[in-house]
Amino acid sequence: MSESASKTKNSNRVLPHKHCKICQEAISTKAEPRVCKKEECITKNGKNEKSQKQVRILMLVFFGIFALPFIASIVLQVAG
Ligand SMILES: [Zn+2]
Repeated sequence: MSESASKTKNSNRVLPHKHCKICQEAISTKAEPRVCKKEECITKNGKNEKSQKQVRILMLVFFGIFALPFIASIVLQVAG
């Protein structure tokens, strides 16, 4: 009943490591970007980062489109 959860930490000790973002293979913690050394994974990761940037920009644009009229109306109310 009173088995503490803190003990599981010790019994389940694993050396610190990361996993490749693409193929989940164990890699060094210092690996940056977080991918293994396979060319396939490196190029895939590069593409992912690019598309992530594009998604972020798109989201900002959409946010701007929706937020601008809202902000403008507040500014106009304050000004007028
Ligand atoms: Zn990989």
